[in-house]
Amino acid sequence: MTTKPTKIYLKDYQAPNFSVTTVNLDIKLFDDHATVDSVINMQKQSEGDLILLGRDLQLIQLEINGQIFNEENYQLDKEQLVIKKLADGAPLPNELTVKTQVKIVPQKNTSLEGLYIAGEGDDVMFTTQCEAEGFRKITFYPDRPDVLAEFTTRVEADKKFPTLLSNGHLIEQGELANNRHFAVWHDPAKKPSYLFACVFADLSVMQDKYTTIEGREVLLEIYAKEKDIEKCHVAMQALKDSMKWDEDNYGRAYDLDRFMIVAVSQFNMGAMENKGLNIFNTACVLSTPEKTTDPRTSSVKGIIAHEYFHNWTGNRITCRDWFQLCLKEGLTVFRDQSFSADHQSSAVQRIEDVDILRSAQFSEDAGALAHPVRPESFVEINNFYTPTVYEKGAEICRMMANMMGKEKYRQGTDEYFRRYDGQAVTVEDWLSALSSVDKRTADFIKWYRQPATPTVTATSDFDNESKTLTLNLSQHSRHVAGYDKPIALPIPVATAIFDKTSGEILLEKTLMLTDFEQTFTFENLATEQAPVLSLLRDFSAPVNLEFNQSAEELAFLLEHETNGFNRWQATQTLVNQVLKNGDKHYKEVYLKAVQKAVHQLAKTDPMLATRLLDIPSERDLSLLVKGDYDPQAIKAKREQLKTDLAKFMANDWLNLYQNLPMQAYEDTPQAKGVRALRNTVLAMLLKTTANTPNFTESCKLAVSQYDNASCMTERLGALGAMVNRENEITDEIDFNLVAEKLEDFYQRFADEPLVIDMWVAVQANADCTSLDEIQALIEHKEFDWGTPNRIRSVIGGLANSPVKLWSEQGLDIYLGVVAKLDHANPTLASRLLQPLARWDTLVPELKTIAQAKLTDLEKEVSSKNVLESLGGILGEK
Ligand SMILES: [Zn+2]
Repeated sequence: MTTKPTKIYLKDYQAPNFSVTTVNLDIKLFDDHATVDSVINMQKQSEGDLILLGRDLQLIQLEINGQIFNEENYQLDKEQLVIKKLADGAPLPNELTVKTQVKIVPQKNTSLEGLYIAGEGDDVMFTTQCEAEGFRKITFYPDRPDVLAEFTTRVEADKKFPTLLSNGHLIEQGELANNRHFAVWHDPAKKPSYLFACVFADLSVMQDKYTTIEGREVLLEIYAKEKDIEKCHVAMQALKDSMKWDEDNYGRAYDLDRFMIVAVSQFNMGAMENKGLNIFNTACVLSTPEKTTDPRTSSVKGIIAHEYFHNWTGNRITCRDWFQLCLKEGLTVFRDQSFSADHQSSAVQRIEDVDILRSAQFSEDAGALAHPVRPESFVEINNFYTPTVYEKGAEICRMMANMMGKEKYRQGTDEYFRRYDGQAVTVEDWLSALSSVDKRTADFIKWYRQPATPTVTATSDFDNESKTLTLNLSQHSRHVAGYDKPIALPIPVATAIFDKTSGEILLEKTLMLTDFEQTFTFENLATEQAPVLSLLRDFSAPVNLEFNQSAEELAFLLEHETNGFNRWQATQTLVNQVLKNGDKHYKEVYLKAVQKAVHQLAKTDPMLATRLLDIPSERDLSLLVKGDYDPQAIKAKREQLKTDLAKFMANDWLNLYQNLPMQAYEDTPQAKGVRALRNTVLAMLLKTTANTPNFTESCKLAVSQYDNASCMTERLGALGAMVNRENEITDEIDFNLVAEKLEDFYQRFADEPLVIDMWVAVQANADCTSLDEIQALIEHKEFDWGTPNRIRSVIGGLANSPVKLWSEQGLDIYLGVVAKLDHANPTLASRLLQPLARWDTLVPELKTIAQAKLTDLEKEVSSKNVLESLGGILGEK
């Protein structure tokens, strides 16, 4: 039996009784265990017990101020070590020196948390993941973010691990008897224990240098397996670009003499910003044109920037407690998005950011796991590394930055760094620094506290006599059970008013909606007829907009809007109208407008042209349904529209394809745009010609693109287009071709795990892949329960296909994976549950199945991560 896990509340926060000044760690790794000796110097801050947190540790010795402690002198349970007085009975003095020795077994630690084993055989390495509460699996410590200390770490192991790393600077290293050696690292920056890291491995290193604006010469190092080291150039350049960008845009320079990145295959997240020693999932650091797609390469750059930017927003200024996670994550995501926008078309970057926000965060907000950007309670903090904390957190920073304007926002962030450098702070502190420059930002605390996505409803009216436009805006938010009734949030609505005849902008302004309902009037507009409104430009707030615009108005915006994001949004609004109401008129206008825009943009902005062909995913479309969600019906409607689009432009695809010739690989926005558009056009070409005499010709083009590809984007694009059409192929020859190319791809990249992930994903995501085939992928020899990347590449495909997921067999497969991971890797198991949170909106028949399966799972699992998520999903508040 498991006891119900305990909830922790933000309102119960108490500062620690003891602070830490210095920590000395000595970690010795042996064949079947490790020992950790620590010396912690502490100072009393307030009366009370000394609480040291520790999990799965075997305490061998405890000594405080020279007194040896035995079992009668302390209380020890599964979570903590509590000391009320000294061993001799004297009260705890103001200064303590706590020495402990513990034994741990990293060789058996599969949770990818604490000090854990990664890889196997000759490839084995040991590394750490301490955020949020992993350090307590290494030694007894006040493992909470508001305890900042200076760390000195000695790491010792057999010489089969030549790479011995920890945070800061290398101050000593040497040889020992029995083929062992050691290294001592000192980190002068005070940090919380979640930023601690160490590595025992056999890795190669790529080195470079960067001189900061302050004149400090920094050694840059990326560690990876020997066969991967040449794949680190993109990451190294991105690191240097990030260092420069943070100096230019936020005035922040790097503060140590050394910055290291280590690539690890077995990692739960993207990467981790440990001070001076970032640890990365290989998928987020390795990149070469031949083996990495363009979107993946962009995300490598973005994640390198993200983790680097944490050095100031997260590390030097850290979170007081884990409820404040958005303080470091929201701001840092906003910073990495801005960095990426400076390195490609900013409109396309915004489209990508909003796409992620809508599909991951809006669906979270709409489901049973909805929570505020700053949660008020949790059982397991690992469950709150969510799109809401990250993506919506970033949107709040963006709204304030836009409202303040570039100069004032910079003054505000300068003030934040000036006031709080070296401290552990709260969301209130962040807002108080910004509001010392612009008082209006104080009001944004409401966004941090209130869950659910607001809906803004707009209506407009134009008086031809007085040339006055009246715009009425109102806001509404869903009342989430367990939270206060929603209040009105400050919502910036960036607006442009267009003259219908000339297509020129008459007026541009950001309107602030601060009440539930407000009316804005614009007088004496220099126009002859009712103007066209463009609202929420560049997605100025994370809201759903309801605004009835005619098909012609939306087509007008697609043609005349100067804001690239709103051009794209016009196509998405048209599509939603068609799919929601089956409106034929909207469909006609949509098809014509998109066709025209794609031709216009194919040469000048091929990436935007590609995005204009977007049809929202089945998962995104499920959000438009208020109840009785029928995955099959949504899939059918979406497929129909895609077919209509393919047919409407039937005479365009081949022409477009031939006008986008393959060229030598270049990493520029234009070249990436051409590759993206060519892949989309190829897929449409195969779709249009399937089951026609021209299909063999289209297949030849795909095969030729596959065989002559200059990079992975081209090769995988061709393979994906073929695999996706597999079920429409009636001709034996064509069918064999697809199988042949899949096999070729596998053989070509058999020793490249990240490429095999793609090979798996392309099959798992294909429409024609059956659930039996997905099950077969899980049983395939390439499947690896220890590597989250591989697990995600298979069952991510299942999550992306609601029709397959929401079926008896689909749920059995999906929940089977969760159950299997519950013990081995509870963090991952719990995160995989996120796509299931909206089960209660399903049509009754599927709803009953889902409820039964989820309830069954609850009886099977025991980790508090999974229990908390399941409880939330099943509505057990
Ligand atoms: Zn982060």
